[in-house]
Amino acid sequence: MTKHIFVTGGVVSSLGKGLNAASIGLLLENHGLRIRLQKFDPYVNVDPGTMSPYEHGEVYVTDDGAETDLDLGHYERFTHAITNKDCNFTTGSIYHSVISKEREGKYLGKTIQVIPHITNEIKDCIRKLTNSDTDVVISEIGGIVGDIESQPFLEAIRQFGQEIGRENVLYIHLTLIPYLRAADELKTKPTQHGVGMLRQAGIAPDILICRTEKSLSASIKEKLSLFCNVERESIIEEKDVRSSIYEIPLLLVEQGLDEIILKKLHLKKKENPLSEWTKMLDTLMNPERETEIAIVGKYIGHKSAYESIYEALLHGGISNSAKVLKRRIESEDIEKDGADKHLQGCKGILIPGGFGERGIEGKIAAATYARENSIPFLGLCLGMHCATIEFARNVCGLKDANSTEFDANTPDPVICLLEEQKNIETKGGTMRLGSQACKVKRNSIAYDCYHKELVYERHRHRYEFNNKYKDKFASKGITFSGLTSDGELVEIIELKDHPWFVAVQFHPEFKSKPTNPHPLFKGFIRASLDVH
Ligand code: GLN
Repeated sequence: MTKHIFVTGGVVSSLGKGLNAASIGLLLENHGLRIRLQKFDPYVNVDPGTMSPYEHGEVYVTDDGAETDLDLGHYERFTHAITNKDCNFTTGSIYHSVISKEREGKYLGKTIQVIPHITNEIKDCIRKLTNSDTDVVISEIGGIVGDIESQPFLEAIRQFGQEIGRENVLYIHLTLIPYLRAADELKTKPTQHGVGMLRQAGIAPDILICRTEKSLSASIKEKLSLFCNVERESIIEEKDVRSSIYEIPLLLVEQGLDEIILKKLHLKKKENPLSEWTKMLDTLMNPERETEIAIVGKYIGHKSAYESIYEALLHGGISNSAKVLKRRIESEDIEKDGADKHLQGCKGILIPGGFGERGIEGKIAAATYARENSIPFLGLCLGMHCATIEFARNVCGLKDANSTEFDANTPDPVICLLEEQKNIETKGGTMRLGSQACKVKRNSIAYDCYHKELVYERHRHRYEFNNKYKDKFASKGITFSGLTSDGELVEIIELKDHPWFVAVQFHPEFKSKPTNPHPLFKGFIRASLDVH
C-alpha cells in the first residue's frame, strides 16, 4: 500500500518546503523506496505558465509539457522521481476541473460545494500518484497554514489521512523559530500559533522541521514538544548555516529524520549511506579551479527567475571540479553602457530563455561580443533567437533581420512563428511544450557533449529558426548540429570558427541534476576553463 507524507508550512512563506520535500524524497529513495512528489499551489491561476517571472520565478517544464512550479525542479534534481502533469495542481486547476464536470452534468444536479466536491477533487489528485509502483507519495501544500486559500487543501489532506488510516500517513510541518536579537532569544510562539491553526483544521503534525538561525536548546525543544504536541525526537532543527541547498538532506539525516519517518510509517530501513550525494557535495565544496559565467537576462533581479539555469551551471562546475561564479547582467545595462563594460573578463556568456522585446538588443550585443572575442557561448531558446539575429545582421549582412516576436514587419524574419502556432489565440499551455527528440549531427560540439545521435529535450516556445535562411547561414559558418527527428525544425546551431558557441531551441537546464550534470552545461563550463 502506498504511504503518504504531507508537507505543510507555517509562520512565513519561503522557508523551503519544496527543498525539504525533495530532500525527504532523496532520503527515502536511499532506503530503497520508490517515491513520487507533487505540489498543490493555493493561487487561483490555472498554472504558472502565464505568470510573470517577477511574480512567480521560473516556470518549470516537465517531459509531458506541463508548465509547473519551480519546486518540481527541486524534486527532479534531488530524486529520481518522475514529475508530470499529475504533480502540480492549483486552486485554479482544481476549480476548473470541478466546474467543467458540473457543466458536463457529471454531478447529476447536486449543489456543488467546497466540501465535498472541491476536497474530493483534491483527494483525486493525490490518488493520481498512488499505485503499485509507488511506496511513498510526498505532497507539498504551498502557501502557509492560516491562508484563506489553503483551507480546502488542509481539509482534503485531513480527510485523506482519515480514509487511509493514521498509520499510513504522516504530516510534516515546516516552521520558523525566529531569533530576536534585542532579547537574545529564540521565540517559539509563532510556531505554537501556526501548529494551533493546523490542529484547528484537524491535523496533528507528526514532525516539526524548524528553520532557525541558532541551535535549538533542549529547553526550546521541550517547549515546542509540549505546546505543539509533537514528540521531542520528532522536532528537527534546520539551521540556516549552509553554503548549498544540497546540504539539506545531510542536515536532516544527521538528526535521524529518515529513521523517524520510516518508523512512523512502518517502513523497512535499509542501510545505504548517501554516498553518491556526499561525493557530489564533496566535489562541490572543494573545487580545484574557478570560472566566471556572465548571464545576460531580463529578470536578473529576481532570485529564482532562472533557478534551473543557475543550478545547471553549478552542476557543470561539479563535473569539472570547478567553482562557477555567476555574473548576473541586466541586458538593458548592456544597451546603456555597451557590452565591453559588463562582459570584459568573463569566461563564458549565457543567454537564457525569455519573452518580449525588452532588453533584446542588449542580449544580441552580448552574443556579438561572445562571437567576436571567442568566448564560450550558450544560448537557450530566446538565447538561440538572439544568436541567430546577431549572426544574420553582422555576418550575413541582413541589417534589419529580427524575430517576428519583436518586429512583425522585419524584411528578414530569421526567427518566425511556428506554423502550428499561427492560429492560436489563447494563452496558457498553448506553446510547443515538453520533451521532443533531437537528432544530433556527428562531428559537432553538440555531439562531443552528448556522445549520442538521438537526445530528448524539453521545449517551451512559439518561435523557431526560419528554414528559408538555412543555406545562407551555412555558407557563412553556421553548423546546424541538431534537428527535429523529421529534419523539419532547427534545434541546435553552432559556429564553425569559434572554440565553443552553441545555441539551442530547447531548455537543457530542466534536465540537469547535481549527480548527473547536463552534457551541454558540462561542455560549456569545460570550455570556459580554457579561456585565459
Ligand atoms: N519568446 C520565445 C518564443 O516564444 C522564446 C521562448 C523561450 O525562451 N522559452 O519562441
